Amino acid sequence: MIYLDHNATTPPSPAVIAAMLPVLSSLWANTSSQHGPGQQAKRVLSTARATVARVLGCKPVEVIFTSGATEANHMAVRGLLAASAPERKRVVFSSVEHAGQLRLARALADAGIQVDLMPVQADGTLDLAAAASLMGPDVALVSLMAANNETGVLMPMADIAELAHAAGALLHVDATQHIGKLPFHFADSGADAVSLSAHKFQGPKGIGALLLRQGLPFVPQTLGSQERGRRGGTENLAGVVGMATALELLGDVGLEATRQTQLRDALENGLTRALPETHIWGRQVPRLPGTSYLRFGQLSVDVVLQRLERLGVAASSGAACSSGGSEPSHVLTAMEVPADEALAAVRFSLGRTSTLADVNHLLQALPPMLAPLLHEERLTAP
Ligand code: PMP
Repeated sequence: MIYLDHNATTPPSPAVIAAMLPVLSSLWANTSSQHGPGQQAKRVLSTARATVARVLGCKPVEVIFTSGATEANHMAVRGLLAASAPERKRVVFSSVEHAGQLRLARALADAGIQVDLMPVQADGTLDLAAAASLMGPDVALVSLMAANNETGVLMPMADIAELAHAAGALLHVDATQHIGKLPFHFADSGADAVSLSAHKFQGPKGIGALLLRQGLPFVPQTLGSQERGRRGGTENLAGVVGMATALELLGDVGLEATRQTQLRDALENGLTRALPETHIWGRQVPRLPGTSYLRFGQLSVDVVLQRLERLGVAASSGAACSSGGSEPSHVLTAMEVPADEALAAVRFSLGRTSTLADVNHLLQALPPMLAPLLHEERLTAP
């Protein structure tokens, strides 16, 4: 199988699994226990925390382990909002946040909290002028993704940090798609809080973290003594060790980004050459290296994915969490893409295990399968 759905999840690296197995079999003691095995587990937790902090450019005390990015996202927004001054109770999100984060936005609004959405432009980039107009002395928090999971389009983290801070608000960044694909350094990012999820960078599923700037007022959302009282619950030590190992293995992120950009460009150039009806979203703006979000004319994504399946290629119609539905993607809708075009959206996302051979196989096999369908579409077009 050729797996081209790395934004949904990417396979764990064998070295990550090898690092986790002895933790699962031997280091199973509770890190809060006072006995020898508990204290040994606690030391391993602390070493892994130091590794995570070193790779991500923060202090070990700023790392709060969570079950993934969804939990970190919700905890950041609810925890920072609850700790904000009474005159600051508005929250600003972007209109293209992850589905889970937009559900949180809706839940906050339903609970009577004022929520605003920063719009994007037709190319998927954030509308900075509109974002600026939404800042104000009543804003507690701005929550913005670093990179969009569907289009791969990068969001202006530094500009929004400046705007938010000038208004006296905090910035939370959902860096789930960014970390591991492009260089990242918490202290230099301008963000006050950052979410990440290990399974997007060859770590295991069910583990992630919220990086929270030291000293920031924060109301814990899951009560317990662990994680300095900021997130209760016995730690997932094997997951933590797996995540730390995955981060250590990242190595030169820039070099890998260049390799994936070349592969992605080869894929896009090949497809547009063979099938001129190919339209690629966000092609002209800064994007994640391995993400290609496109449509072949207006061929339904279901038809395209069926053909890909026959070729042994796994791709997706967008976000795994919302695919399978018949609704157009909320990201494309926010970009004002008409529904019939949005329902043709296919996402290819490359990862560390992707090769030029994968791309070449796709380029050889897919166009001959789609060309007759596109020809038919042209004949029947009004
Ligand atoms: N945010 C973004 C941008 C994502 O792409 C994802 C995963 N699809 C999440 C949050 C949620 O991550 P998790 O499923 O690990 O909680």
